[in-house]
Formats: sequence, structure tokens, C-alpha cells
Amino acid sequence: MTQDTRTTLRTPIVAVLGHVDHGKTSLLDKIRGSAVSEGEAGAITQHIGATDIPLETISTMAGELVDPDDFDLPGLLFIDTPGHHSFSTLRARGGALADIAVLVVDVNDGFQPQTEEAIDILRRTGTPFVVAANKADTTPGWNPQEGEPIQRSLAAQSDRAESMLNENLYEIIGQLSDVGFSADLYWRVQDFQKNIGVVPVSAMTAEGIPDLLTVLMGLSQRFMREEMAIDVHGPGEGTVLEVKDERGFGATVDAVIYDGVLRNGDTVVIGGQNEPIVTEVRALLRPRPLAEIRTEKKFEKVAEVTAAAGVKIAAPDLDDAMAGAPIRVVRDRPVEDVVAEVKAELAEIEVETAEDGVVVKADTLGSLEAMADALRESEVPIMRAEVGDIAPRDVAIAETANQQEHKAILGFNVDVLANAKRELETADVTLYSNDVIYQLIENYETFVEERKRAQQ
Ligand code: GDP
Repeated sequence: MTQDTRTTLRTPIVAVLGHVDHGKTSLLDKIRGSAVSEGEAGAITQHIGATDIPLETISTMAGELVDPDDFDLPGLLFIDTPGHHSFSTLRARGGALADIAVLVVDVNDGFQPQTEEAIDILRRTGTPFVVAANKADTTPGWNPQEGEPIQRSLAAQSDRAESMLNENLYEIIGQLSDVGFSADLYWRVQDFQKNIGVVPVSAMTAEGIPDLLTVLMGLSQRFMREEMAIDVHGPGEGTVLEVKDERGFGATVDAVIYDGVLRNGDTVVIGGQNEPIVTEVRALLRPRPLAEIRTEKKFEKVAEVTAAAGVKIAAPDLDDAMAGAPIRVVRDRPVEDVVAEVKAELAEIEVETAEDGVVVKADTLGSLEAMADALRESEVPIMRAEVGDIAPRDVAIAETANQQEHKAILGFNVDVLANAKRELETADVTLYSNDVIYQLIENYETFVEERKRAQQ
């Protein structure tokens, strides 16, 4: 008889960060596309909000670079939304949701402000990362080698193209060293915990992508294996990525499950706008494989998901669920204990509000907290802080502020609902909307100062 060992190793969760236009989205698309085109070799499992690349596919893509016998981790799960914003605001038990990161740097452009911000965040959270030196194909005289490992591709380049690329790569290695990281070209790195590996890649031709996946796999296997152990029967734990209305299901939650198992019918506790939501899972949904998508049905139902996985949860009462909030399955313990746990986790990110102040809306709990911190530093009081798009209610509340300078809504990475737009046209409320926190606050402060000057 086989013994149920109860533990298994889960897929490490990977985030992609970097400066705008350096190629984060293109790289994710290419990784996904290259994996799909590997066809029969396991290909990729469709997920919500994340892409799972199994070891089998990585090893087919990487050829001689990967011996699957060297690994027992099942593959890599890439979070589909790139950017350090989603990285720093998506948490798992207080830490970052992603276990490991890819920092994308345009090989011609080198370090830019958001590269430095991303590095600060990675350093602060102690997240291991590799650098993808992207757009290698733009090197003058480049001879493209579709999908090849980078060293094989380099062998096909002229000496001139190779030395021009090298010059740019060493520039990036120097910039990493300026901010305190020892780094080198990945094939010269002996110990990836001590040195950051720099992998030249192209999101256009997929050159170097096999190497990037290999390095991520190796890094996880060597240094994260212990943390990847999960109890296959343990209660599922996850993080809300997004709350979405879905035809036929009402409000649903897109989530990444990072521990245990989540089953259809489970009672779950999810962080909500007011109180934690206690509800029962009605359906667990995954996207249908592309070939099978029919117009009427985008999703297929699954009975359970085991970490790490991206999944859509359909259940009653999810309207108030918050992006960034924790999800916990109730199993083998009283529901009150789980509610208390979710409350405690949310309390860590509670925002202090005042009688008179501005209205703040943000896309996730983490970004709301970041906004609140920044506003506290600027001594701007907050009357109401909430996750979600700007609604008519927000306009009405902003209008009740006593001081004129507080009749304002600061929206971070959110949309304005159509009916709120109409209200704003007539209301005595100013809207500030931006997806960079410091710019948002700067715009607001400029407005306040100009007003004061005008009144003098
Ligand atoms: P993001 O803002 O970091 O997500 O960057 P995008 O993925 O949107 O890429 C920005 C621009 O760079 C787009 O026009 C892409 O087509 C282009 N781009 C991205 N990666 C590469 C690459 O490897 N080679 C070339 N030639 N262009 C690229």
C-alpha cells in the first residue's frame, strides 16, 4: 500500500519587474508563446492571472541546458501582471507573494528610475532575482537566432555585434555593483545566492529565454526548495488579485493560491471592505485551453486546485472582496479562528482616517497602504480610504469635506465609473488620478499651493 506522504513541492511564484518600456509585457508574452509552441511537451496549464510553465516544457525549451533529473520542483508560475507595483502590493502572510523575480533591463537603456525602485523593493523584501538584459536583438549587426539559448546565438554573431552587446552588458553589471550587488554574466556565476546572474535575452526573437528559465529553475531548486514544501491536504491560502463581475457568476475573485489545497464547496474567509467575508465556494474556474474556447464558455470548472495556482473563485457575497486581501480555507478549525486571522492580517494594513480629509481610492490593499503612508508623510489627512474604482459615493463623501483643499479624490491605478464621471462634472470636487504614487501626491500638493497663493 502506498503511504500518503502529505507533502509535496509547489511551483515557485515568479514576478517580472523593471522600468516602463523595457519589455516586461513582451517578455511574459514570449515566454508564454514559446512554451505553448512546444506543444506536446506538457505545454502550459492555463491559469487565471498567472502562467504555469511545467519543468517538462522548460527542459524541452532549454535542451542541453536542463537535465530534468536535477530538479524536483514542478516548474515556474509567472504572475501575469508585470511591474513592481503588483509585486510590492501582493502579499502572502505579510511577505511578498512572489518567491523570486526577473528584473528586466533594456540592454541599450541600462538602469532607469523604476529599475532602481524595483531593486530597492527586491532588496527590502529579500527576494532573489535575476536580470534579463532585454532587447539583445537590437544590437547593431545582430543575426537573429530564433529561440536559441544565448550562447549558441552568440556563436552566430559577428565579433563586432558580440563586443557591442558585451559593452552594454558590462555597463549593467557595473550599475548593479553601484547599488551594492555583485553580478556577472550568468554563465560565469558559480553561486547565484552571492552573485546576480545577468541573462541577455530578446523578447522579440526568444533568444536567451531558455537560459532565463533555466537560471530561474536552478535558483529555485538550490535556494528555495525548503520553502516550496506544502501539505497537499492543508487548507488553501491565497491572495486576491482582482475582483471581477463575470457573466453568469456575479462578483468573482481572481486569486493566486500559494499554499495547501482549495476545493469546490470549501468554506473560505476573504478580506472584505468592511468585515472579512465568510462564504462557500460555488465554482472554481480556469480558462479553457485556447483551442477549446467556444463563444459562450470562457471557463472550465475544476474540482480543486493545489498551490501554486491561479484560479477564479465564484461564491456568494464577493462584491466587497478586496484586491490584495488574504484568502483562507476553513478546514479542521473553527471559522471564528480563521476570521480572526484574516482580521489580524488586514489590521497590519489599516489606514488611519480623520474627520476631515481627502478621499483615497487604490487598486489593491497594498497600494492603498503605500498611498496612506505617503500622504501621512506629506501631512495630508484622509477621510476615507478604500480599494476599488471611483464611484458616485466617493464623490458625495469628498464633497462633505469642510476644508476646500480636502474636497479631493486621489485615485491610484483605478478607473472612474461612468456615473461617478457625471457627478464629478457638477460636484465641487477635484479628481487626481495617476499610477505613480509620488506624482499623484505632487499633483495634489501643487493644486493646494496654487490655491493658497491665489487666495493671498
Ligand atoms: P513594458 O512597459 O516593460 O511592459 O514594455 P513592453 O513589453 O510594452 O515593450 C515596450 C516596447 O519595446 C514595445 O514596443 C516592444 O515591442 C519593444 N520590445 C520589447 N522587448 C523587445 C525586444 O526584445 N526586442 C525588440 N527589438 N523590441 C522589444
